[in-house]
Amino acid sequence: MTVPAPDPIPFSNTYARLPDAFHVRLDPDPVPDPSLIELNHDLCRELGIDPLALTPEEWGQVFAGNRILPGSEPLAMAYAGHQFGHFVPRLGDGRAVLLGEVVDVRGRRRDIQLKGSGRTPFSRRGDGRAALGPVLREYLVGEAMHALGIPTTRALAAVSTGEPVLRETALPGAVLTRVAASHVRVGTFQYFAVRGDRAALQQLADHVADRHYPWTREADQPCLALLEAVVEAQARLVAQWMGVGFIHGVMNTDNMAVSGETIDFGPCAFMDGYHPDQVFSAIDTQGRYAYANQPAMAQWNLARLAETLLPLIGSDEKQALEQATDLVNSFSSRFARHWIDVMGLKLGLSMADKSDIALIQGLLQAMQQGQVDFTLCFRHLCDAAEDETHDEPVRRLFAQPEALVAWAQQWRSRLRQDPLPPGERAVRMRRVNPACIPRNHRVEQVIAAALEAEDFEPFRRLLGVVRNPWVLAEADQAYARPPAPTERVYQTFCGT
Ligand code: AMP
Ligand code: MG
Repeated sequence: MTVPAPDPIPFSNTYARLPDAFHVRLDPDPVPDPSLIELNHDLCRELGIDPLALTPEEWGQVFAGNRILPGSEPLAMAYAGHQFGHFVPRLGDGRAVLLGEVVDVRGRRRDIQLKGSGRTPFSRRGDGRAALGPVLREYLVGEAMHALGIPTTRALAAVSTGEPVLRETALPGAVLTRVAASHVRVGTFQYFAVRGDRAALQQLADHVADRHYPWTREADQPCLALLEAVVEAQARLVAQWMGVGFIHGVMNTDNMAVSGETIDFGPCAFMDGYHPDQVFSAIDTQGRYAYANQPAMAQWNLARLAETLLPLIGSDEKQALEQATDLVNSFSSRFARHWIDVMGLKLGLSMADKSDIALIQGLLQAMQQGQVDFTLCFRHLCDAAEDETHDEPVRRLFAQPEALVAWAQQWRSRLRQDPLPPGERAVRMRRVNPACIPRNHRVEQVIAAALEAEDFEPFRRLLGVVRNPWVLAEADQAYARPPAPTERVYQTFCGT
Protein backbone atom coordinates (compact mmCIF):
# COMPACT_ATOMS: atom_id res chain seq x y z
CA MET A 1 0.00 0.00 0.00
CA THR A 2 1.40 3.39 -0.91
CA VAL A 3 0.78 6.30 1.39
CA PRO A 4 0.05 9.47 -0.59
CA ALA A 5 2.71 12.13 -0.16
CA PRO A 6 1.59 14.98 2.12
CA ASP A 7 0.87 18.31 0.48
CA PRO A 8 4.13 20.28 0.18
CA ILE A 9 2.50 23.15 2.08
CA PRO A 10 -0.18 22.13 4.61
CA PHE A 11 -2.60 25.00 3.95
CA SER A 12 -5.51 25.57 6.29
CA ASN A 13 -7.20 28.85 5.45
CA THR A 14 -9.47 31.11 7.46
CA TYR A 15 -9.30 34.53 5.80
CA ALA A 16 -10.65 32.98 2.61
CA ARG A 17 -13.74 31.95 4.59
CA LEU A 18 -14.62 35.60 5.31
CA PRO A 19 -17.28 37.15 3.04
CA ASP A 20 -16.59 38.38 -0.48
CA ALA A 21 -16.22 41.99 0.62
CA PHE A 22 -12.92 41.08 2.28
CA HIS A 23 -11.03 39.89 -0.78
CA VAL A 24 -10.87 39.19 -4.47
CA ARG A 25 -9.98 35.68 -5.48
CA LEU A 26 -7.47 35.45 -8.28
CA ASP A 27 -4.43 33.49 -9.29
CA PRO A 28 -1.02 35.11 -9.46
CA ASP A 29 0.15 36.09 -12.95
CA PRO A 30 2.70 33.54 -14.19
CA VAL A 31 6.21 34.75 -15.00
CA PRO A 32 8.34 33.63 -17.97
CA ASP A 33 11.43 32.22 -16.30
CA PRO A 34 11.27 31.75 -12.54
CA SER A 35 14.44 30.91 -10.70
CA LEU A 36 14.75 30.37 -6.95
CA ILE A 37 17.25 32.80 -5.43
CA GLU A 38 16.78 31.81 -1.82
CA LEU A 39 14.58 29.51 0.22
CA ASN A 40 14.42 30.00 3.98
CA HIS A 41 14.91 26.43 5.20
CA ASP A 42 14.63 27.28 8.91
CA LEU A 43 11.38 29.11 8.38
CA CYS A 44 10.09 26.27 6.18
CA ARG A 45 10.62 23.82 9.02
CA GLU A 46 9.02 26.20 11.49
CA LEU A 47 5.96 26.24 9.23
CA GLY A 48 5.86 22.46 8.94
CA ILE A 49 7.09 22.57 5.33
CA ASP A 50 9.82 20.16 4.27
CA PRO A 51 12.18 22.32 2.20
CA LEU A 52 13.33 19.21 0.38
CA ALA A 53 9.80 18.09 -0.54
CA LEU A 54 10.21 19.85 -3.88
CA THR A 55 13.26 20.58 -6.01
CA PRO A 56 14.60 24.15 -6.16
CA GLU A 57 13.10 24.39 -9.67
CA GLU A 58 9.70 23.33 -8.34
CA TRP A 59 9.88 25.76 -5.39
CA GLY A 60 10.83 28.42 -7.94
CA GLN A 61 7.58 27.70 -9.81
CA VAL A 62 5.55 27.73 -6.59
CA PHE A 63 7.02 30.93 -5.18
CA ALA A 64 6.79 32.74 -8.51
CA GLY A 65 3.07 31.99 -8.55
CA ASN A 66 3.32 29.78 -11.65
CA ARG A 67 2.22 26.66 -9.83
CA ILE A 68 -0.65 26.64 -7.35
CA LEU A 69 -0.32 23.93 -4.72
CA PRO A 70 -3.26 21.95 -3.35
CA GLY A 71 -5.02 23.75 -0.51
CA SER A 72 -3.96 27.21 -1.68
CA GLU A 73 -6.80 29.69 -2.27
CA PRO A 74 -5.07 32.74 -3.71
CA LEU A 75 -6.70 36.08 -3.00
CA ALA A 76 -5.95 39.78 -2.86
CA MET A 77 -6.98 41.45 0.40
CA ALA A 78 -9.02 44.65 0.49
CA TYR A 79 -7.84 47.54 2.63
CA ALA A 80 -7.80 51.32 2.82
CA GLY A 81 -5.25 53.57 4.45
CA HIS A 82 -3.95 56.95 5.43
CA GLN A 83 -0.89 57.58 3.29
CA PHE A 84 1.22 60.39 4.78
CA GLY A 85 -1.92 61.61 6.50
CA HIS A 86 -4.21 61.48 3.45
CA PHE A 87 -7.00 58.96 3.45
CA VAL A 88 -7.36 56.60 0.48
CA PRO A 89 -10.56 54.56 0.83
CA ARG A 90 -9.46 51.75 -1.46
CA LEU A 91 -5.88 50.48 -1.60
CA GLY A 92 -5.74 46.71 -1.20
CA ASP A 93 -3.17 44.18 -2.40
CA GLY A 94 -2.16 45.74 -5.69
CA ARG A 95 0.79 43.46 -6.23
CA ALA A 96 0.37 40.69 -3.70
CA VAL A 97 -1.73 37.60 -3.27
CA LEU A 98 -2.29 35.62 -0.13
CA LEU A 99 -1.68 31.98 -1.03
CA GLY A 100 -3.20 30.77 2.21
CA GLU A 101 -2.41 30.03 5.85
CA VAL A 102 -0.59 27.31 7.70
CA VAL A 103 -0.54 26.44 11.38
CA ASP A 104 3.12 26.30 12.33
CA VAL A 105 4.83 23.69 14.51
CA ARG A 106 4.13 25.82 17.61
CA GLY A 107 0.44 26.05 16.76
CA ARG A 108 0.54 29.64 15.49
CA ARG A 109 -1.42 30.50 12.37
CA ARG A 110 0.74 32.19 9.71
CA ASP A 111 -0.06 33.76 6.32
CA ILE A 112 1.95 32.93 3.23
CA GLN A 113 1.80 35.73 0.69
CA LEU A 114 3.45 36.44 -2.65
CA LYS A 115 4.55 40.03 -3.23
CA GLY A 116 5.21 41.10 -6.81
CA SER A 117 2.94 38.43 -8.27
CA GLY A 118 1.11 40.54 -10.83
CA ARG A 119 -1.79 42.89 -11.24
CA THR A 120 -4.98 42.62 -9.19
CA PRO A 121 -8.20 44.65 -9.14
CA PHE A 122 -6.42 46.84 -6.54
CA SER A 123 -3.43 47.67 -8.74
CA ARG A 124 -4.63 51.10 -9.88
CA ARG A 125 -1.86 52.28 -12.21
CA GLY A 126 0.79 49.89 -10.88
CA ASP A 127 2.21 46.91 -12.74
CA GLY A 128 1.72 44.49 -9.85
CA ARG A 129 5.39 43.61 -9.87
CA ALA A 130 8.39 44.02 -7.60
CA ALA A 131 11.99 44.78 -8.50
CA LEU A 132 14.82 42.57 -7.32
CA GLY A 133 16.47 45.21 -5.12
CA PRO A 134 13.53 45.83 -2.77
CA VAL A 135 12.89 42.07 -2.60
CA LEU A 136 16.45 41.41 -1.40
CA ARG A 137 16.21 44.35 1.02
CA GLU A 138 13.00 43.04 2.55
CA TYR A 139 14.50 39.55 2.81
CA LEU A 140 17.57 40.83 4.66
CA VAL A 141 15.82 43.27 6.96
CA GLY A 142 13.08 40.80 7.92
CA GLU A 143 15.64 38.15 8.86
CA ALA A 144 17.69 40.72 10.76
CA MET A 145 14.65 41.92 12.71
CA HIS A 146 13.75 38.36 13.56
CA ALA A 147 17.27 37.60 14.76
CA LEU A 148 17.18 40.79 16.85
CA GLY A 149 14.09 39.43 18.60
CA ILE A 150 11.72 42.02 17.12
CA PRO A 151 8.27 40.86 15.95
CA THR A 152 8.33 40.88 12.17
CA THR A 153 7.03 39.43 8.96
CA ARG A 154 9.70 37.25 7.36
CA ALA A 155 10.80 36.13 3.94
CA LEU A 156 10.23 32.51 3.02
CA ALA A 157 11.62 32.72 -0.50
CA ALA A 158 12.90 35.06 -3.18
CA VAL A 159 12.49 34.17 -6.85
CA SER A 160 13.68 36.05 -9.92
CA THR A 161 11.08 36.22 -12.66
CA GLY A 162 13.17 36.53 -15.82
CA GLU A 163 11.09 39.57 -16.70
CA PRO A 164 12.17 43.20 -16.37
CA VAL A 165 10.09 45.70 -14.44
CA LEU A 166 10.03 49.31 -15.50
CA ARG A 167 10.84 51.84 -12.81
CA GLU A 168 13.07 54.84 -13.61
CA THR A 169 14.97 52.26 -15.63
CA ALA A 170 14.33 48.61 -16.47
CA LEU A 171 15.22 46.41 -13.49
CA PRO A 172 15.16 42.66 -13.01
CA GLY A 173 11.85 41.50 -11.54
CA ALA A 174 11.43 39.28 -8.51
CA VAL A 175 8.77 37.86 -6.22
CA LEU A 176 9.09 37.78 -2.44
CA THR A 177 7.22 35.18 -0.44
CA ARG A 178 6.33 36.67 2.89
CA VAL A 179 5.17 35.02 6.11
CA ALA A 180 3.11 37.04 8.59
CA ALA A 181 1.07 36.35 11.70
CA SER A 182 -1.57 37.94 9.49
CA HIS A 183 -1.75 40.67 6.89
CA VAL A 184 -4.63 42.51 8.57
CA ARG A 185 -3.71 46.17 8.82
CA VAL A 186 -5.17 49.22 10.51
CA GLY A 187 -6.23 50.05 6.95
CA THR A 188 -8.27 46.84 6.73
CA PHE A 189 -10.51 48.17 9.52
CA GLN A 190 -10.65 51.55 7.82
CA TYR A 191 -11.82 49.91 4.59
CA PHE A 192 -15.02 48.67 6.24
CA ALA A 193 -15.47 51.68 8.53
CA VAL A 194 -15.53 54.14 5.64
CA ARG A 195 -18.16 51.97 3.95
CA GLY A 196 -20.25 51.88 7.10
CA ASP A 197 -20.17 48.07 6.98
CA ARG A 198 -20.63 47.32 10.65
CA ALA A 199 -21.19 43.60 10.15
CA ALA A 200 -17.90 43.24 8.29
CA LEU A 201 -16.11 45.28 10.95
CA GLN A 202 -17.38 42.91 13.60
CA GLN A 203 -16.29 39.89 11.57
CA LEU A 204 -12.87 41.42 11.08
CA ALA A 205 -12.55 42.23 14.79
CA ASP A 206 -13.51 38.66 15.67
CA HIS A 207 -11.06 37.24 13.15
CA VAL A 208 -8.23 39.38 14.54
CA ALA A 209 -9.13 38.58 18.14
CA ASP A 210 -9.21 34.83 17.45
CA ARG A 211 -5.91 34.95 15.64
CA HIS A 212 -3.85 37.33 17.74
CA TYR A 213 -5.52 38.22 21.00
CA PRO A 214 -7.86 35.34 21.93
CA TRP A 215 -8.11 36.40 25.59
CA THR A 216 -9.93 39.59 24.55
CA ARG A 217 -12.92 37.47 23.50
CA GLU A 218 -13.64 36.79 27.16
CA ALA A 219 -13.46 40.45 28.23
CA ASP A 220 -16.54 42.43 29.30
CA GLN A 221 -15.99 44.71 26.33
CA PRO A 222 -14.17 42.52 23.79
CA CYS A 223 -13.61 45.28 21.26
CA LEU A 224 -12.14 47.63 23.81
CA ALA A 225 -9.88 44.83 25.01
CA LEU A 226 -8.87 44.21 21.41
CA LEU A 227 -7.96 47.87 20.95
CA GLU A 228 -5.95 47.76 24.15
CA ALA A 229 -4.07 44.68 22.97
CA VAL A 230 -3.17 46.35 19.68
CA VAL A 231 -2.10 49.57 21.43
CA GLU A 232 0.12 47.56 23.77
CA ALA A 233 1.64 45.49 20.95
CA GLN A 234 2.48 48.61 18.93
CA ALA A 235 3.95 50.40 21.95
CA ARG A 236 6.24 47.46 22.52
CA LEU A 237 7.12 47.09 18.85
CA VAL A 238 8.08 50.71 18.28
CA ALA A 239 10.17 50.73 21.49
CA GLN A 240 12.06 47.75 20.10
CA TRP A 241 12.61 49.54 16.78
CA MET A 242 14.02 52.53 18.64
CA GLY A 243 16.41 50.25 20.50
CA VAL A 244 18.14 49.14 17.30
CA GLY A 245 17.96 52.44 15.43
CA PHE A 246 15.37 51.17 12.98
CA ILE A 247 13.44 53.62 10.85
CA HIS A 248 10.44 52.06 9.15
CA GLY A 249 10.06 54.86 6.64
CA VAL A 250 6.39 54.50 5.62
CA MET A 251 4.26 54.07 8.72
CA ASN A 252 1.03 54.64 6.84
CA THR A 253 -2.02 52.97 8.36
CA ASP A 254 -1.99 50.41 5.54
CA ASN A 255 1.55 49.48 6.57
CA MET A 256 0.75 48.84 10.24
CA ALA A 257 -0.20 45.25 11.04
CA VAL A 258 -2.65 44.83 13.92
CA SER A 259 -0.68 41.74 14.99
CA GLY A 260 2.17 43.96 16.19
CA GLU A 261 4.64 42.65 13.63
CA THR A 262 6.88 44.90 11.56
CA ILE A 263 5.48 44.84 8.03
CA ASP A 264 5.99 46.43 4.60
CA PHE A 265 9.62 47.39 4.75
CA GLY A 266 9.76 49.86 1.93
CA PRO A 267 12.50 52.43 2.22
CA CYS A 268 13.27 51.29 5.76
CA ALA A 269 16.77 51.57 7.18
CA PHE A 270 18.85 51.22 10.29
CA MET A 271 20.65 54.42 11.10
CA ASP A 272 24.40 54.56 11.35
CA GLY A 273 25.06 57.91 13.04
CA TYR A 274 22.49 58.78 15.68
CA HIS A 275 20.19 61.69 15.06
CA PRO A 276 16.57 61.82 16.22
CA ASP A 277 15.47 63.60 13.04
CA GLN A 278 17.02 61.00 10.76
CA VAL A 279 14.91 60.19 7.68
CA PHE A 280 15.98 58.02 4.77
CA SER A 281 12.89 57.62 2.64
CA ALA A 282 13.04 59.76 -0.48
CA ILE A 283 9.26 60.22 -0.38
CA ASP A 284 9.15 61.35 3.27
CA THR A 285 9.94 64.95 2.43
CA GLN A 286 8.39 66.37 5.63
CA GLY A 287 10.11 63.95 7.99
CA ARG A 288 6.75 62.61 9.13
CA TYR A 289 8.27 59.21 9.82
CA ALA A 290 11.64 60.37 11.17
CA TYR A 291 13.25 58.16 13.83
CA ALA A 292 12.03 60.10 16.85
CA ASN A 293 8.57 60.68 15.36
CA GLN A 294 7.78 56.99 15.14
CA PRO A 295 6.05 56.66 18.53
CA ALA A 296 3.81 59.66 17.80
CA MET A 297 2.99 58.30 14.36
CA ALA A 298 2.14 54.87 15.76
CA GLN A 299 -0.19 56.58 18.20
CA TRP A 300 -1.76 58.60 15.38
CA ASN A 301 -2.41 55.37 13.49
CA LEU A 302 -3.91 53.79 16.59
CA ALA A 303 -6.30 56.72 16.90
CA ARG A 304 -7.45 55.91 13.34
CA LEU A 305 -7.96 52.28 14.38
CA ALA A 306 -9.89 53.36 17.46
CA GLU A 307 -12.22 55.46 15.30
CA THR A 308 -13.13 52.42 13.24
CA LEU A 309 -13.90 50.39 16.35
CA LEU A 310 -16.15 52.95 18.07
CA PRO A 311 -19.44 51.47 16.83
CA LEU A 312 -18.38 48.05 18.14
CA ILE A 313 -17.21 49.20 21.56
CA GLY A 314 -20.60 49.97 23.07
CA SER A 315 -24.01 51.45 22.41
CA ASP A 316 -23.28 54.53 24.53
CA GLU A 317 -21.42 56.63 21.94
CA LYS A 318 -20.04 59.14 24.40
CA GLN A 319 -18.74 56.48 26.72
CA ALA A 320 -17.21 54.48 23.85
CA LEU A 321 -15.40 57.59 22.67
CA GLU A 322 -14.05 58.30 26.15
CA GLN A 323 -12.88 54.75 26.65
CA ALA A 324 -11.21 54.56 23.25
CA THR A 325 -9.59 57.96 23.73
CA ASP A 326 -8.17 56.92 27.10
CA LEU A 327 -6.70 53.81 25.52
CA VAL A 328 -5.12 55.68 22.64
CA ASN A 329 -3.72 58.20 25.13
CA SER A 330 -2.30 55.34 27.18
CA PHE A 331 0.04 54.63 24.29
CA SER A 332 2.46 57.29 25.58
CA SER A 333 2.97 55.75 29.01
CA ARG A 334 3.02 52.22 27.57
CA PHE A 335 5.63 53.22 25.04
CA ALA A 336 7.68 55.01 27.71
CA ARG A 337 7.66 51.90 29.88
CA HIS A 338 8.86 49.67 27.04
CA TRP A 339 11.40 52.22 25.91
CA ILE A 340 12.88 52.50 29.42
CA ASP A 341 13.06 48.69 29.55
CA VAL A 342 14.75 48.44 26.15
CA MET A 343 17.21 51.28 26.72
CA GLY A 344 17.87 50.28 30.32
CA LEU A 345 18.88 46.78 29.21
CA LYS A 346 21.10 48.32 26.55
CA LEU A 347 22.88 50.25 29.28
CA GLY A 348 23.28 47.14 31.40
CA LEU A 349 20.66 47.94 34.03
CA SER A 350 18.86 44.88 35.30
CA MET A 351 15.93 47.04 36.35
CA ALA A 352 15.47 50.51 34.87
CA ASP A 353 12.70 52.91 35.80
CA LYS A 354 11.56 56.48 35.20
CA SER A 355 14.44 57.87 37.21
CA ASP A 356 16.78 56.48 34.52
CA ILE A 357 15.28 58.55 31.70
CA ALA A 358 17.77 61.36 32.27
CA LEU A 359 20.67 58.92 32.07
CA ILE A 360 19.40 57.44 28.80
CA GLN A 361 18.67 60.86 27.30
CA GLY A 362 22.05 62.09 28.43
CA LEU A 363 23.82 59.49 26.33
CA LEU A 364 21.59 60.08 23.32
CA GLN A 365 22.18 63.82 23.50
CA ALA A 366 25.92 63.30 23.65
CA MET A 367 25.65 60.94 20.67
CA GLN A 368 23.58 63.40 18.68
CA GLN A 369 26.42 65.93 18.53
CA GLY A 370 28.61 64.54 15.79
CA GLN A 371 26.16 61.73 15.07
CA VAL A 372 27.95 58.93 16.86
CA ASP A 373 27.37 55.49 15.38
CA PHE A 374 24.35 54.05 17.22
CA THR A 375 25.17 50.35 16.96
CA LEU A 376 28.90 50.67 17.67
CA CYS A 377 28.43 53.00 20.63
CA PHE A 378 26.17 50.58 22.49
CA ARG A 379 28.26 47.59 21.50
CA HIS A 380 31.45 49.20 22.81
CA LEU A 381 29.64 50.09 26.03
CA CYS A 382 29.33 46.35 26.70
CA ASP A 383 33.11 46.15 27.02
CA ALA A 384 33.22 49.34 29.07
CA ALA A 385 30.66 47.90 31.47
CA GLU A 386 32.91 44.92 32.07
CA ASP A 387 36.08 46.89 32.60
CA GLU A 388 36.58 50.65 33.09
CA THR A 389 39.82 50.53 31.20
CA HIS A 390 37.82 49.68 28.09
CA ASP A 391 36.28 53.12 27.70
CA GLU A 392 38.66 54.18 24.97
CA PRO A 393 36.81 52.59 22.00
CA VAL A 394 33.59 54.32 23.07
CA ARG A 395 35.38 57.63 23.62
CA ARG A 396 36.94 57.50 20.19
CA LEU A 397 33.48 57.52 18.60
CA PHE A 398 32.82 60.99 19.99
CA ALA A 399 34.15 64.14 18.35
CA GLN A 400 33.92 65.82 21.76
CA PRO A 401 34.84 63.03 24.17
CA GLU A 402 34.28 65.30 27.22
CA ALA A 403 30.52 64.83 26.85
CA LEU A 404 30.95 61.08 27.01
CA VAL A 405 33.37 61.22 29.93
CA ALA A 406 30.92 63.23 32.02
CA TRP A 407 28.09 60.89 31.11
CA ALA A 408 30.16 57.77 31.85
CA GLN A 409 30.67 58.95 35.43
CA GLN A 410 26.92 59.09 35.98
CA TRP A 411 26.50 55.75 34.28
CA ARG A 412 29.12 54.09 36.49
CA SER A 413 27.62 55.45 39.65
CA ARG A 414 24.23 54.12 38.53
CA LEU A 415 25.75 50.71 37.70
CA ARG A 416 27.18 50.50 41.19
CA GLN A 417 23.61 50.52 42.54
CA ASP A 418 22.68 47.64 40.26
CA PRO A 419 23.14 44.14 41.65
CA LEU A 420 24.62 42.51 38.52
CA PRO A 421 28.32 41.54 38.61
CA PRO A 422 30.23 43.29 35.75
CA GLY A 423 31.01 40.10 33.82
CA GLU A 424 27.41 38.97 33.85
CA ARG A 425 26.28 42.48 32.95
CA ALA A 426 28.50 42.56 29.87
CA VAL A 427 27.22 39.16 28.74
CA ARG A 428 23.63 40.38 29.04
CA MET A 429 24.42 43.62 27.27
CA ARG A 430 25.94 41.73 24.33
CA ARG A 431 22.60 39.95 23.98
CA VAL A 432 20.70 43.21 23.47
CA ASN A 433 23.31 45.36 21.73
CA PRO A 434 23.97 43.78 18.33
CA ALA A 435 27.46 43.66 16.88
CA CYS A 436 25.91 44.01 13.48
CA ILE A 437 22.79 45.35 11.79
CA PRO A 438 22.12 45.33 8.04
CA ARG A 439 23.80 48.63 7.37
CA ASN A 440 22.42 50.52 4.39
CA HIS A 441 25.64 50.61 2.47
CA ARG A 442 26.01 46.85 2.85
CA VAL A 443 22.47 46.30 1.67
CA GLU A 444 23.11 48.56 -1.31
CA GLN A 445 26.34 46.69 -2.08
CA VAL A 446 24.70 43.27 -2.16
CA ILE A 447 21.85 44.61 -4.29
CA ALA A 448 24.37 46.14 -6.71
CA ALA A 449 26.21 42.81 -6.99
CA ALA A 450 22.92 41.03 -7.71
CA LEU A 451 21.86 43.60 -10.30
CA GLU A 452 25.17 44.13 -12.03
CA ALA A 453 26.65 40.63 -12.01
CA GLU A 454 23.77 38.37 -10.98
CA ASP A 455 26.04 37.54 -8.08
CA PHE A 456 23.99 36.53 -5.02
CA GLU A 457 26.95 35.44 -2.89
CA PRO A 458 27.33 38.85 -1.19
CA PHE A 459 23.59 38.73 -0.40
CA ARG A 460 23.93 35.26 1.14
CA ARG A 461 26.96 36.24 3.15
CA LEU A 462 25.26 39.33 4.57
CA LEU A 463 22.19 37.23 5.29
CA GLY A 464 24.37 34.85 7.32
CA VAL A 465 25.85 37.76 9.27
CA VAL A 466 22.57 39.49 10.13
CA ARG A 467 21.02 36.20 11.20
CA ASN A 468 23.55 36.01 14.00
CA PRO A 469 23.86 39.63 15.11
CA TRP A 470 25.15 39.07 18.65
CA VAL A 471 28.55 37.72 17.71
CA LEU A 472 30.66 38.53 14.71
CA ALA A 473 33.29 36.09 13.45
CA GLU A 474 36.79 37.47 12.96
CA ALA A 475 36.39 37.20 9.18
CA ASP A 476 33.17 39.24 9.30
CA GLN A 477 34.43 42.19 11.37
CA ALA A 478 34.13 44.51 8.37
CA TYR A 479 30.33 44.18 8.57
CA ALA A 480 30.37 46.00 11.90
CA ARG A 481 32.03 49.07 10.41
CA PRO A 482 30.03 52.17 9.63
CA PRO A 483 30.16 53.37 6.02
CA ALA A 484 33.12 55.35 4.79
CA PRO A 485 32.05 58.85 3.66
CA THR A 486 31.97 57.64 0.04
CA GLU A 487 29.78 54.66 0.98
CA ARG A 488 27.17 56.56 2.93
CA VAL A 489 23.56 56.11 1.87
CA TYR A 490 21.55 59.28 2.29
CA GLN A 491 18.24 58.19 0.80
CA THR A 492 16.31 55.00 0.30
CA PHE A 493 13.52 54.34 -2.16
CA CYS A 494 10.36 52.29 -2.14
CA GLY A 495 11.11 50.93 -5.58
CA THR A 496 7.44 50.28 -6.16
P1 AMP B 1 3.26 50.22 -0.36
O1 AMP B 1 3.79 51.61 -0.54
O2 AMP B 1 4.15 49.14 -0.92
O3 AMP B 1 2.87 49.93 1.04
O4 AMP B 1 1.94 50.14 -1.25
C1 AMP B 1 0.86 51.02 -1.12
C2 AMP B 1 -0.24 50.59 -2.07
O5 AMP B 1 0.21 50.63 -3.42
C3 AMP B 1 -0.76 49.17 -1.85
O6 AMP B 1 -2.11 49.14 -2.16
C4 AMP B 1 0.04 48.38 -2.86
O7 AMP B 1 -0.59 47.18 -3.22
C5 AMP B 1 0.10 49.35 -4.02
N1 AMP B 1 1.28 49.11 -4.88
C6 AMP B 1 2.56 49.35 -4.58
N2 AMP B 1 3.36 49.01 -5.61
C7 AMP B 1 2.57 48.53 -6.59
C8 AMP B 1 2.80 48.02 -7.91
N3 AMP B 1 4.02 47.93 -8.43
N4 AMP B 1 1.72 47.61 -8.61
C9 AMP B 1 0.48 47.71 -8.10
N5 AMP B 1 0.19 48.17 -6.88
C10 AMP B 1 1.22 48.59 -6.13
MG1 MG C 1 2.03 48.55 2.00
